[in-house]
Amino acid sequence: MTSVQYDAVIVGAGFAGIGAAIQLKRMGYENFVILDREDDLGGTWYVNHYPGLAVDVPTTTYSYFFEPNPNWSRLFSTGTEIKQYADGVADKYDVRRHMRFRTVVQGARWDEEAQAWRVSVADGETLTARYLFTATGFLSQPRLPEIPGIETFDGRVLHTTAWDDSYDPTGERVGIIGTGATAVQLIPELAKKAADLTVYQRTPIWVAPKLDFRISERAKRLFARIPLTQRIVRAITDTIYEMMINVGVVHYRVPLFRRLNISAMDLCKINQFIQVRDKDLRRRLTPDYDIGCKRPTFSNSYFRTFTKPHVHLQSDGIDHVAADGIVNADGTKTVIDTLVLATGFDLWEANFPAIEVIGREGRNLGKWWRENRFQAYQGVSMPYFPNYLSLASPYAFLGLNFFNTMEYQMRLMDRLFGELQRRGATTFEVTEQANADYLDRMTELLGDSLWTLGNCASSRSYYFNPHGEPSLLRPMSTRDAITEASEFPLSDYQIS
Ligand code: NAP
Repeated sequence: MTSVQYDAVIVGAGFAGIGAAIQLKRMGYENFVILDREDDLGGTWYVNHYPGLAVDVPTTTYSYFFEPNPNWSRLFSTGTEIKQYADGVADKYDVRRHMRFRTVVQGARWDEEAQAWRVSVADGETLTARYLFTATGFLSQPRLPEIPGIETFDGRVLHTTAWDDSYDPTGERVGIIGTGATAVQLIPELAKKAADLTVYQRTPIWVAPKLDFRISERAKRLFARIPLTQRIVRAITDTIYEMMINVGVVHYRVPLFRRLNISAMDLCKINQFIQVRDKDLRRRLTPDYDIGCKRPTFSNSYFRTFTKPHVHLQSDGIDHVAADGIVNADGTKTVIDTLVLATGFDLWEANFPAIEVIGREGRNLGKWWRENRFQAYQGVSMPYFPNYLSLASPYAFLGLNFFNTMEYQMRLMDRLFGELQRRGATTFEVTEQANADYLDRMTELLGDSLWTLGNCASSRSYYFNPHGEPSLLRPMSTRDAITEASEFPLSDYQIS
């Protein structure tokens, strides 16, 4: 066997990569490197810094289970605070020194002879590692819209993932394309300064009221002194979010739960009614698909913004972009100075997987997924890919909170690597049978979900892969996912 440089290479220094690194350390591995294309850690919370950025899950719930933060300033904290939390965790658990930034990973190939991964980076260097983790996130490959003429636009173009902090929209005519969760946060901020703002909406979004408030100094002191109090608050916010995804979406077949889903849409409509008196505007802002088909969001100011005289909703479609503005489907032109692209991310084409991964016998992961359905045992393992955990895989994401996903993935690592160490083994690979059974089970569970039974046809949701299967989210509760990750049959992996 040729010598191998690292025990592990982790691709991505966001919350998934940090979590995987902490888990490796807990299990006694110190010889690993975390590679990231950016020049700092934090993943999406480093890359995104557009005005208005805040978490849309209560921060009492938005943290690692093992590292509660008593210092959040609000229930829905700002992006800056989340980035600070990432920095704090990386320092506390001493994982920053393992990170190598400005390192673009191009691909990884399993070397059968060395029983190791060969990871190639953009400058031509190749690293070798016994284990490979891709912690590349779900929303990491920005999508640029293919709109005719967009390249001919003369003004400034800003994608929300490449925000220019020096940009000041004061007095400008701004056009923004997209009405997803990012746009819902950004539009009210742009409207405060722009002279004229036109919002190009293709698909409306369900927006619930945001119950946000400052967390008092007294509460923070209590959380710090008696951590159990914060655990209790977390249990409450976790349960509410869990109910939203599990009751309203995963078990949609149950009539009572379907009723709750309808109530959630009613709540969004009330939120809209309070803010917008114009019936036609309300109609245009209301989705015609069921809530939960795509990720809903929260805001108390989004709808109201459209009632301001200088803010316009354009929902008839874009024909093309011209040098000085946007030509609408009806032939009219809106002249703009700046075009903001809140057009989201390319999950299925560019992100699954985010780098080229070639496993045993030359199996190409991206090609295999596309030709054989998107699938991953426990959301992390695929046959023919030994010693590899893909943390951003089909069926990996547990709905609304990324940290729940991280928690089960860390427990799975604990069980799997614990067994390797116990046996003195160095390789693992999920069996074809275990993987096939897992995919069958996911398919069966999805049969009861809103994504199968509900009205999702017009939602254009990234939960669905290009073949129309809702194979992004794991259709089960966090508790079940954690139990499975802690108790899965070890015989599901071939360990040697
Ligand atoms: P998104 O939900 O994918 O929304 C992209 C928007 O751009 C959609 O309205 C989409 O319309 C529109 N769009 C894309 N291409 C278009 C085109 N060619 N022409 C017209 N419209 C086009 O992306 P996002 O808003 O960035 O949010 C992505 C996810 O990030 C969210 O679901 C959420 O999970 C997460 N997020 C979280 C937070 C937070 O926690 N603070 C904040 C922001 C985002 P269609 O719907 O018609 O495709």
